[in-house]
Amino acid sequence: MILPGATLGLLGGGQLGRMFTQAAQRIGFEVVVLDPDPASPAGRIGSRHLRAAYTDEAALRELGTVARAVTTEFENVPAGSLAFLRQFCPVRPGPEAVTLTQDRLVEKRFARAQGLATADFRAIHEVGDCARAFGEIGAPALIKTAQLGYDGKGQAAVESVADAEAAFHRFGGRPSILEARVPLELEISVVLARGGDGAIVTFPVAENRHVQGILDTSVVPARIPEGLAVRAREAAATLADAMDYVGTMAVEFFVVNGGRLLVNELAPRPHNSGHYTLDACATDQFEQQVRAVAGLPLGDTTLLQPVAMVNLLGELWAAGEPQWGRALEDPRVQLHLYGKTEPRPGRKMGHINVLAPTADAALAAARAARERLTAS
Ligand code: AMP
Repeated sequence: MILPGATLGLLGGGQLGRMFTQAAQRIGFEVVVLDPDPASPAGRIGSRHLRAAYTDEAALRELGTVARAVTTEFENVPAGSLAFLRQFCPVRPGPEAVTLTQDRLVEKRFARAQGLATADFRAIHEVGDCARAFGEIGAPALIKTAQLGYDGKGQAAVESVADAEAAFHRFGGRPSILEARVPLELEISVVLARGGDGAIVTFPVAENRHVQGILDTSVVPARIPEGLAVRAREAAATLADAMDYVGTMAVEFFVVNGGRLLVNELAPRPHNSGHYTLDACATDQFEQQVRAVAGLPLGDTTLLQPVAMVNLLGELWAAGEPQWGRALEDPRVQLHLYGKTEPRPGRKMGHINVLAPTADAALAAARAARERLTAS
């Protein structure tokens, strides 16, 4: 067990790292952040900020030496860096789990190997694979790069072999998958934490809405039958066990055809769809990550009240600073800003949580608060 007062290391210093750092500091840990960005949201509040590349051996050595354990906050962290850090201290989650989630093909095959369904897909390694894959999957389909895609980046709709070939070229001929576009009834996600002793706690299922591939709103509890929620939580736990995962992770699912669950993606870190836990659960997803990384017992995931989360993206700054005071006119509004100085379109700048007696009421109030930010 690593006790409060000790130092934890963090590879990556975005908003997820910042909220991890805040949770760790609240409990009494010190956090050292490695992130090349001088304006890193976590780096700015950590007790130390090592400004270096994620592959910089001297910086990694420093991080591994001062920290009792190291964690990460983004899935594209170089697995080699996690493996290198392991010489010095425990790395949670480990490079194997992170590597598995860095490649869609590996990830989907892994989910299937655990007996879970995914949308139908085929691997595309070269342009010649497009015709066969499209022949088997048919329209409508999506091509997605196997690696380095997030928030809908590296994805294109495919209605023909020609579309698939054009997109494959556009993505630089990188290994990709052709995936059936499934008729979504809903998108849901499960955030969970798993300790080094194998103990698992899952959070209530979030119902997620995406706009242009980016999460827009989460509503909890998801407006789905209880049986489906139980199956989703069990499926997520199955994946975490099979990966021997330690830390907080998320599993995104598609719900199709009257309650069929398809695994979409795994995230080896706290997740945007788990931000509701900051205000609505007895223990939030970042504190769970701290506890799991430190080997402390995991906390209670009970939902205190229905909640909605709405993301605040950079476009809200298009006409100047949003009207924070207006959003807060509703006393239930909880504002979370990540301390980012450059609001770019699509960039996650913050979020709003609202707790209310029903999920519908929470969603309406959270959306209204966001609209007031830019109302004239
Ligand atoms: P992803 O990066 O794979 O999570 O995709 C981003 C978003 O695109 C998802 O949250 C869905 O809204 C949509 N999407 C991705 N794959 C599919 C699919 N196979 N069928 C339908 N919608 C999809």
